[in-house]
Amino acid sequence: MHELGLVSGILETVGKTAREAGASRVVSVSLRIGDMAEVNPETMEFAWDVLREDDPLCVEATMEVAYVHPSSVCLDCGEEFEHDRFHLRCPACGSADTVLITGREMDIVSMEIEDGA
Ligand SMILES: [Zn+2]
Repeated sequence: MHELGLVSGILETVGKTAREAGASRVVSVSLRIGDMAEVNPETMEFAWDVLREDDPLCVEATMEVAYVHPSSVCLDCGEEFEHDRFHLRCPACGSADTVLITGREMDIVSMEIEDGA
């Protein structure tokens, strides 16, 4: 379950950012995750529920995840196309010489915090 490692890293960053901002608690966190990261949404929820307990600031934080479809560009004809995890060939010319543009991101898009004041 690499989701546990992923969520653990996200919570670490969130906790650090929240502390630097003087937050008293984290309300919600928005993530953007590419389909190519092969993350299971249910496992993500589970990992989040378990691991957020480790940080007093994050105990009540909710997680929202936007899953991003992969897209690639063809190096032979320049076509940009969306695809699923398994079909990476260029639909225009059939070339397998393609480079992934989106689909591997694991970004924290935004987070909502309450400050301690
Ligand atoms: Zn092509």
